[in-house]
Amino acid sequence: MATEPVIVHAIINGEKANTPKQYPRENPTNPEEIVGYGPTNTREDAIRAIEAAAAAFPAWAATPIDERIARMERAIEKIRAAIPELAPLLSREHGKPLYDAQGEFFVTLAWMEYACKTAKDVLQDKVMDTADGKTIIAHDPLGVVSAITPWNYPLSLSSIKIAPALLAGNTMVLKPSPFAPLTVSKMVEIIAAEFPAGVLNMVHGDADVGVELTSNPLIAKIAFTGGTKTAKHIMKAAADTIKNMTLELGGNDAAVILSDFDVNDDRAMRRLVISNFLTAGQICMIAKRVYVHRSIYDKFVEKYIEAANKWIRVGDPFNPNVTIGPVNNPGQVKFVQGLIDDAQSRGAEVIKLGQVLDPDAFAKGYFMQPTLVLGADYNDRIVVEEQFGPTVPVLPFDDDEQAINLVNDSIYGLTSSVWGEEEHAIRVARRIQAGTTMINTAAVQGLDVRFPFGGVKQSGVGREYGAEGLLAYVDLHVINMPKVGELPNIPE
Ligand code: NAD
Repeated sequence: MATEPVIVHAIINGEKANTPKQYPRENPTNPEEIVGYGPTNTREDAIRAIEAAAAAFPAWAATPIDERIARMERAIEKIRAAIPELAPLLSREHGKPLYDAQGEFFVTLAWMEYACKTAKDVLQDKVMDTADGKTIIAHDPLGVVSAITPWNYPLSLSSIKIAPALLAGNTMVLKPSPFAPLTVSKMVEIIAAEFPAGVLNMVHGDADVGVELTSNPLIAKIAFTGGTKTAKHIMKAAADTIKNMTLELGGNDAAVILSDFDVNDDRAMRRLVISNFLTAGQICMIAKRVYVHRSIYDKFVEKYIEAANKWIRVGDPFNPNVTIGPVNNPGQVKFVQGLIDDAQSRGAEVIKLGQVLDPDAFAKGYFMQPTLVLGADYNDRIVVEEQFGPTVPVLPFDDDEQAINLVNDSIYGLTSSVWGEEEHAIRVARRIQAGTTMINTAAVQGLDVRFPFGGVKQSGVGREYGAEGLLAYVDLHVINMPKVGELPNIPE
């Protein structure tokens, strides 16, 4: 369904900025089709956006929270009204099936609503009256926040930063990923229009513009979601001016299938397959390696393949029977295929999963048929690296102790899941190093905007969602009024 290309712009100080050059975004299902164009911004554009955000900060920080919430609520309603137009655009530029694109809007709005509902309570002054005085703990906004987001969930991973930052009184410059820039730009346009000029700005680009957004002295905080390697550059760029940071990074999430997991539980098996392959495996918190107790390994593999062949239907994102679309970009296809080839060359067996519903689209687009990798070594690249694509290795373990060690022997610690009898699973879960561990479900199926989300180790710093996701955008300012403000034991 080709339509006119969508043109999006940078937003600087409330205006759509004119940019002499533009870059195309193709449709991963049919790369010959250009879905739209984004502006090729420069470092100078980023500087102008940062200066606009800095100029808008004092007035916005002084704006009462009720007004900030009311503006955000108006933006939410306008985004909701735009879903019928924008969800198909997201499918076309990203490759995720329409139901998946609509699901992303659902999560985006659920968080924005939750942030609005809780902001006043979470961000209000905490006043402590004690016998020897009174203390106010104020929640001061930080200043200009730069938000840098990836392509896999462009809307939700932008709103997760925009809503709390603006509600807390900060201003922002956001930079989306060039691999899915269009729908998020439309959403940012809608939000920015509800706020005073300069409060929410947006520039496009890649590392060139990102460097300015992470090193400019006017930036107080960086809210970044993306790869762990990129985060290392960002930390270095920010070091000179010691910036506050929230980093949501890569993961190599493990699913542990305990000896008491019921392999005949079809619903559980379906949840597990979904947790491996939703959005063609391009989710930070998807299960990327599966460890199965040796006593049920063979039966598990048989039942898993059965469930996957039923549930995984690859094809055009607009085919209503399709559950998995193409991979977002050719670089990602090459990387994931490289991991599969590496495992195969070292003796692993690669089993194709699911049905290909649209062979013509499959031949044209950036498609990969999902695969299960059996017999890989615990140290093979496909096991230790984040694949971020539609393939998953399944490996056996002999006892819980070994499983826990295998899971924790990783630079990552984003989410994880344990499957089996509940109390047993909780005991194992407590010993896993991760920001979230789910029991008998995994990935976005267990996501809840009320709970803090983030990683340990090289999967990140800080939390998004929950009260913590709002508090990440303020500094605590203690205003202390002791009754006797002098040291008691100084000689008169
Ligand atoms: P990426 O790190 O390549 O890019 C992310 C963003 O950083 C993009 O906007 C990109 O243009 C920008 N960027 C690149 N170099 C930069 C630099 N030097 N300075 C500043 N900005 C720079 O990641 P990606 O390929 O877009 O996304 C996939 C990765 O994101 C995966 O590793 C995935 O696990 C991770 N991710 C994590 C979470 C989470 O919540 N933990 C969520 C989604 C994705």
